[in-house]
Amino acid sequence: MSEEHRPDREFGFHTRSIHAGARPDPTTGARAIPIFQTTSYVFEDPESAAAYFNLQEYGNTYSRIMNPTVAAFEERLSNLEGGIGAVAFASGLAAQSSALFTLLAPGDHVVASAALYGGTVTQLKHLERKLSLDVTFVDPDRPQNWADAVREETKLLFGETIGNPGGNVLDIEVIANIAHDAGAPLLVDNTFATPWLCRPLDWGADIVVHSATKFLGGHGTSIGGAVVDAGEFDWSNGRFPIIAEPSPAYHGLAFHETFGTYGYLMKLRAETLRDLGGAMSPFNAFLFLQGIETLGLRMDRHVGNARTIAEWLSERDDVTQVRYPGLAGSKYGELVAKYLPRGAGAVFCFDLDGGREAGQDFIRGVRLFSHLANVGDAKSLIIHPASTTHRQLTDDELAAAGIGPGTIRLSIGLEDAQDLLWDLEQGFAQIG
Ligand SMILES: *Cc1c(COP(=O)(O)O)cnc(C)c1O
Repeated sequence: MSEEHRPDREFGFHTRSIHAGARPDPTTGARAIPIFQTTSYVFEDPESAAAYFNLQEYGNTYSRIMNPTVAAFEERLSNLEGGIGAVAFASGLAAQSSALFTLLAPGDHVVASAALYGGTVTQLKHLERKLSLDVTFVDPDRPQNWADAVREETKLLFGETIGNPGGNVLDIEVIANIAHDAGAPLLVDNTFATPWLCRPLDWGADIVVHSATKFLGGHGTSIGGAVVDAGEFDWSNGRFPIIAEPSPAYHGLAFHETFGTYGYLMKLRAETLRDLGGAMSPFNAFLFLQGIETLGLRMDRHVGNARTIAEWLSERDDVTQVRYPGLAGSKYGELVAKYLPRGAGAVFCFDLDGGREAGQDFIRGVRLFSHLANVGDAKSLIIHPASTTHRQLTDDELAAAGIGPGTIRLSIGLEDAQDLLWDLEQGFAQIG
């Protein structure tokens, strides 16, 4: 939208979910955002080509670095999260590794929540060895644990809005203050909440990462991820020469000095995405844009169904525990009221009164729930960690991961809640 057409109005979330980042195609009039299925872009003349490659002008060069369909997705997500910009990636884990790669150097220290997504914990342990980092995992529920773990080399704090399997809700504002006292940014994985339920940047987080694979796409069709930057962190505080000082990887460009608040995002795109190459495909960006158009509507229904099912489960004698932070009496009640007033998401675990056998029987019994390793689909999903994702672990190791032999994880979809209850009833009947 050109400046003179920019309306003097703050649009609401649903309006922005549909319109942010996209406008009718100027050449064809196409109303939906076209899938720009192109690797590269013709330059007008040698001068503008040079200006693009020098980052003196912002223009399309090659779809590993930028693409108009992907750019629409980036702008929309950034708008919804309240950031100054975003960079999309091929997956949530590609987004995270790239976010870290851009700001960390060998010898740096990271404080991370021990309740992060399992794939993230594995990724951090791997990067720790490969990049000579040091990562301290802390129980995220006690802010003092974060403060105690911080030291001189700490360059990042990394948490998740809603963790799994415990349903831990992060005290974002408090942890952000601890990070800033240490001169480090706070990065939050907001995949389970989405910006409709929580906007971590509003509470002081500096960077948000997403697996778009989950609720943003919302239909279980595509893998993707993104990094959103609040543009608030001061990279010139003397602790981030990797961003503030001239970069040998980009002919001596000083990203922070040259691009100001956009320094981190520019380095993330022009260096990290260029060199590590985990770019989002334009077709997937198109599907994520479709998903985001209905994000708020879908999340409200996901949450409504999740609440109904969590309450129903919590009243059963054959269930020992329901770990949904949105249940009345949850130990995360106050944090949910503060950070997740619209609801505590739709992914949670419950524990069967019975061991591995009971868990597997329960899975055998259900027909509507799909037995698979994903979350955030319109379809309801179920998994028994002890016999699948965590099957190599002993009962003691399971307990350390917060998983019991009879723990079941649900991702509640958009079906009729009564049908989902009917289905779960069949799981209980199978246990006998
Ligand atoms: C799935 C997931 C990821 C990883 O995303 P991919 O798109 O699978 O790479 C990271 N964090 C959370 C919370 C997730 O659910």
